[in-house]
Amino acid sequence: MRKQKLLVGPKIMLSSRLNGTIFYAYQVCPREAWFYYHRLNPSQEHDLLLLGRLVHEGSYQRARKEVFVDQLLKIDLFRDEMVAEVKKSSRHKEAARLQLAFYLYYLKHEKGLAMSGVLLFPKERKTEKLELTPELEQKVEELLLEMLPVLESESPPPPVKSKYCRTCSFQEVCWG
Ligand code: SF4
Repeated sequence: MRKQKLLVGPKIMLSSRLNGTIFYAYQVCPREAWFYYHRLNPSQEHDLLLLGRLVHEGSYQRARKEVFVDQLLKIDLFRDEMVAEVKKSSRHKEAARLQLAFYLYYLKHEKGLAMSGVLLFPKERKTEKLELTPELEQKVEELLLEMLPVLESESPPPPVKSKYCRTCSFQEVCWG
């Protein structure tokens, strides 16, 4: 498995496998993030993944264009060249905020691009702008330092029952 290391931020070496999906998943459940990091994917036809894809494909099409960065970030450029992240609901809004902050952080430190972000929740007709403040940057760094050893570990963190398990695509793996 290819493990190219990238440098982001002053001290953080980032595995090229740590993409935006994994960063987001870690905020919801570290075990789920570990599964994604180790390329264990749930069925592509899981209902929620399907819904997520439909929301992503069907919304804001005229205003968006999708850009891949280092095969790591799949970002949407939105009106006024903001980095957008589209979510099917605001249920995990804080995780979505941090994922978007991770994108902005990566673009700033790895690419020298200072950009603003926007979260889009098309089903709820909500948008929320995001700036990469020093506090948010520090939070991203803390999370990266915390999550990298967990993700690189040989075995996944133990399952922890939460309200998210009911709709998680790995529930059969954890609790089946
Ligand atoms: S079923 Fe629960 S414990 Fe297992 S990966 Fe999903 S959220 Fe995490």
